[in-house]
Amino acid sequence: MTPLPTFLRFLFCLAPALTVAALSSPARALPAVATVASHTAASAPAGKTQAKGHAPATRVVAKPAPKTMPKAAAKTAPRVATKPVPPKLPPGALSDLPSWCRSITEHLSGLSAQRCQSAGLQAGDGRSVRGVPLWHRDVTPNGQPRVRVLVLGGIHGDEMASVNVVFDWMERSIKTTQDRIQWRMVPLVNPDGLMNKPSTRVNARGVDLNRNFPTPDWARAATSYWVSRTGKDPRRFPGHRAMSEPETQWVQKQVDQFKPHLIVSVHAPYGVLDFDGPPPPPNKVGSLHLDQVGIYPGSLGNYGGVVRRVPVVTLELRNAAKVAPTEVAAMWADLLGWIDRRMETIAQAKPLAPTGP
Ligand SMILES: [Zn+2]
Repeated sequence: MTPLPTFLRFLFCLAPALTVAALSSPARALPAVATVASHTAASAPAGKTQAKGHAPATRVVAKPAPKTMPKAAAKTAPRVATKPVPPKLPPGALSDLPSWCRSITEHLSGLSAQRCQSAGLQAGDGRSVRGVPLWHRDVTPNGQPRVRVLVLGGIHGDEMASVNVVFDWMERSIKTTQDRIQWRMVPLVNPDGLMNKPSTRVNARGVDLNRNFPTPDWARAATSYWVSRTGKDPRRFPGHRAMSEPETQWVQKQVDQFKPHLIVSVHAPYGVLDFDGPPPPPNKVGSLHLDQVGIYPGSLGNYGGVVRRVPVVTLELRNAAKVAPTEVAAMWADLLGWIDRRMETIAQAKPLAPTGP
């Protein structure tokens, strides 16, 4: 075979590098992922003072979405490129529990890989953008279950403490099977975000999963809200369409198939308890007090609570990095007490039939 001329070989060598550079440029155009402490009023949808004694994060307040978006905002809604889809992991990577546990516990304080491995998680059919299993555990009571509760942690990958909380509650739920609650515990909905270095709120395609759920106002309001209220904060990009992400599709599937009577979604670091859906809400869970601040287009609270009529308790821990064991225990006790008191009400507020996206 005739050797390629030198300049052609140079071009062939350069081409992959140019392609990689072109593919990665939108990602690099995104500002560096902010740490919890770097939430600012400028990047928040609307200002509200943070909780006293709170980390220097500004409370992001969800105002109800405007009934109609300003025409100007709609016109200027940009077509923003989603981050290039990263390559899937090699087949088998992180699909076994030991390697997944090793990977996530590098990012979590207070959870050993061994404890993670002995939590009884199963892979199921959920996968992240990068193909990482969305591990979960079902805990069934001894008697006939009266309510089904879906518990979600790590929807935002940089809220590590939320993952810790669900792991802790998973262990507690196994010991309290007499409560006639059937649990589906999902400690980490956004593994790609957590495993980014540094961890990110958004998933591997740069989408805020908690703005990607199919609420009726999504097409009209999600992008406009992102533009006009967050200043195109890349940490809150809702995606190009509702349910564009495999992680949100899988959560919706859990609502359809598991049919929870209650969804508990753990976040951080705003130090409040939020509630969407059929009342009454709990007044407090642990040290978190009820502060119903409204809804976002595409949020799980909006989708689960308002659209599907399944009560959604959203816990905003005070610190995204860690949570005191006493607080985790207090939250669990309050949650169980509230579920027990509201058992009949919750069970009667049956989820609606699946509607599809
Ligand atoms: Zn969050």
